[in-house]
Amino acid sequence: MSDKWLVGVDLGGTTTKIAFVSFYGEIVHKWEIPTDTSENGKNIIVDIAKSIDHHLDELGETKAKLKGVGMGAPGPVDMDNGIIYEAVNLGWEKNTPLKDLLEVETGLPCVIDNDANCAALGEMWKGAGNGAKDIVAVTLGTGVGGGVITNGDIVHGSKGAAGEIGHITVMPEGGFQCNCGKTGCLETVASATGVVRLALQALEESSEDSVLRSGLQTEGVLSAKEIFDAAREGDTLAVSIVDKLAFYLGLAIANLGNALNPDRIVLGGGVSKAGEVLLSPVDKYFNSFAFPTVASSTAISIAKLGNDAGVIGGAWLVKNKLD
Ligand code: ZN
Repeated sequence: MSDKWLVGVDLGGTTTKIAFVSFYGEIVHKWEIPTDTSENGKNIIVDIAKSIDHHLDELGETKAKLKGVGMGAPGPVDMDNGIIYEAVNLGWEKNTPLKDLLEVETGLPCVIDNDANCAALGEMWKGAGNGAKDIVAVTLGTGVGGGVITNGDIVHGSKGAAGEIGHITVMPEGGFQCNCGKTGCLETVASATGVVRLALQALEESSEDSVLRSGLQTEGVLSAKEIFDAAREGDTLAVSIVDKLAFYLGLAIANLGNALNPDRIVLGGGVSKAGEVLLSPVDKYFNSFAFPTVASSTAISIAKLGNDAGVIGGAWLVKNKLD
C-alpha cells in the first residue's frame, strides 16, 4: 500500500493545484489548472478528473497507482457527508455533494475538507508544525483563513465553520465592513487588502512624510508588499501601520491561544512572506495578551510550505481518512 500515491487537490477560485504525493508526504509531481467557473462551475470537477488521468498517463502510470483524492475546497464543509455548504467563488449551488461528484468523475475514493483546514494539516504534517499535534494555522492572503488542529485532527464544529479565524471581531466599534456581513473582522485589517486599507487610512489621517505617500501619488495604488518593505527600511508611518496590523493579529491569536494552548500558531499566506518585520511585533502583542502559561508555551512561526500546504494537507486526508 505504501508505494501508492495520494492525490492532493487545492481547489481555488481562479486556479486549482493538484499533486501526486508519496505516503510519506513528499510531492512526486505537481501542477495546476485554471478553475473554470463559467456556467455555475459545472466543468470544475470534470476538468480535475481529466487532468489527473492526463498526468498519470504522462508519467506512465495507471489509476491503480492512486489510493484516492483529498480535496480542500473554498467554503465550509460537512466532511462526514462530503457536502460543501457554500462556495460563492465557484458559482456552485448551496449544499453541493462534492465528494460524490468527485468520486463519480475520478473513479477513486475521495475525501473533502475546507481549504484552510487542508493548509493547516499540510503544515502540521510536513511544514512549520513539525509534527506537533496541536496547532492553529492562520492564512493571511486576500482574505484570512484558519484551521484548528487538536490531538492531530481538524476541529470542524457544529456546521463546518470552526477555525473561521478571519472573522474574529477585533474592532468591536468603528470597524471596517467585512465580506461576511459583519464589521470589524480580523480579515478587514490583517489580509493583503486589509493592510492596504490601514495604510490608506493612516495616510489620510496624518500628513507625515512617508515613502508610501510618494509611492501612492506616482503609482495611484499601494500593495501590501510595499508597506512591509517600507517598514523594513524604517519608514516611520509604515512601521506604525504594520504595528497596528500586528496589534489586531496578536490580539486575535492570543485569545485563540488562551482557548487552545496549541504547541504552535503558524502564520501562512502571502502576507506572512513579510517575515520578521511582521512576526516580531505580532510576537510582542501575542505575549502581552496571552495568559502567561500560554505565552511561554505556545510558539508563533511563519509557515514553511507556501503554496504546497493545501495539496499536502489533501494528501494527509487520503492517508488518514480513507480506509
Ligand atoms: Zn467577517
